[in-house]
Amino acid sequence: MHTKAIVAHEPTTHPTWALEEVDIGSPTDDEVLVKITATGICHTDILLSSIPTGNPLGIAYPKILGHEGAGIVEATGKNVTSVAVGDQVLLSYYSCSSCTQCQAEKPMYCAQFNVENYIGRKGPAVCKQSGEETWARFFGQSSFGEYSLVAETSVVKVTGLLESEGELSLFAPLGCGFQTGMGAIRNVARAGKDDVVLIMGMGAVGMAGLMTAKVQGCKTIIALDRFPARLQLAEEVGATHTINTTVPDFDFQQAVRHISPNGPSIVFDTTGVGKLIEEAFQSLAPMGKLVHIASPAPDYRFSLDITALFTTGKTITGCIEGNCFPSESIPQMIQWYREGLFPIDKLVSYYHASEFETALAEMHDGSVLKPVLTWD
Ligand SMILES: [Zn+2]
Ligand SMILES: [Zn+2]
Repeated sequence: MHTKAIVAHEPTTHPTWALEEVDIGSPTDDEVLVKITATGICHTDILLSSIPTGNPLGIAYPKILGHEGAGIVEATGKNVTSVAVGDQVLLSYYSCSSCTQCQAEKPMYCAQFNVENYIGRKGPAVCKQSGEETWARFFGQSSFGEYSLVAETSVVKVTGLLESEGELSLFAPLGCGFQTGMGAIRNVARAGKDDVVLIMGMGAVGMAGLMTAKVQGCKTIIALDRFPARLQLAEEVGATHTINTTVPDFDFQQAVRHISPNGPSIVFDTTGVGKLIEEAFQSLAPMGKLVHIASPAPDYRFSLDITALFTTGKTITGCIEGNCFPSESIPQMIQWYREGLFPIDKLVSYYHASEFETALAEMHDGSVLKPVLTWD
């Protein structure tokens, strides 16, 4: 069928995206054709369209990104059993269901994760103008398109959970960014009421972690960022304290000790900034946990003093997608939203898909937390 998609081409100094006409085929046996209503933009979309061809990951172009999709099922392959035509769905990451990790119920560490989610598969979307086959099925979905062929394992049925079809746009980012922040605090750090939580970087992932820390009843929740507007928003959604890293003569340890003399018991880093990561590790209370979800600069290495590690009982760890199972975490976050505990409506801004350049610019300058592209 004939449709439109945002296609990423070989990057220059920055990602090169263009709204183009594409032709896509019919769903294979394990695929679903989804009419995409909306897609959130996540930093991974930008990161994985900034890498020139010839990289060790195997990223190649042209490529259709988008991995926080939401829409309506239009057709299903013959093996598909979890959804039917007309179902409302949110889209999340791909897992193969058959490797050792998937069999052990760790699909976020699927042996095929990097290949299927980051590289995707070549075809079946073809650029109409150039006749080139694109790399699609990014995160099993490539949802930067009006229609997309999606792997069944990337689909979460939300029919019956929505109060209106318009909520598909609001909930689109639940499948990656919000789920990652939520799971990092709930599943990985296992935050509870006695915890002092420091969250570094108040983008969409950090905010989701912050709201989850509040849901978990954490006694102290510290938001750290360089944008005052984000710190103000963090206070609105649950931060008990804020730290602005841009104040003159900023001293990380002093700023943290001023709020919590013993240091945080949990630090959640969404920045990937080496200097902040080192300061955060040092600041942790004994037996504290440092949880990572962001990539630092490719040549950055964290230098770990093992003696300091075992004499303090600290833990340093990371996670993919907050160790979440989308079929559980997405309904959970929707329920929290209904109860007023997860006010993602304060974090989301909408743009028509044709305005993606504006969305990217406003995401970059910090004025927008979570841009969602709509196809209506
Ligand atoms: Zn697998
Ligand atoms: Zn993402």
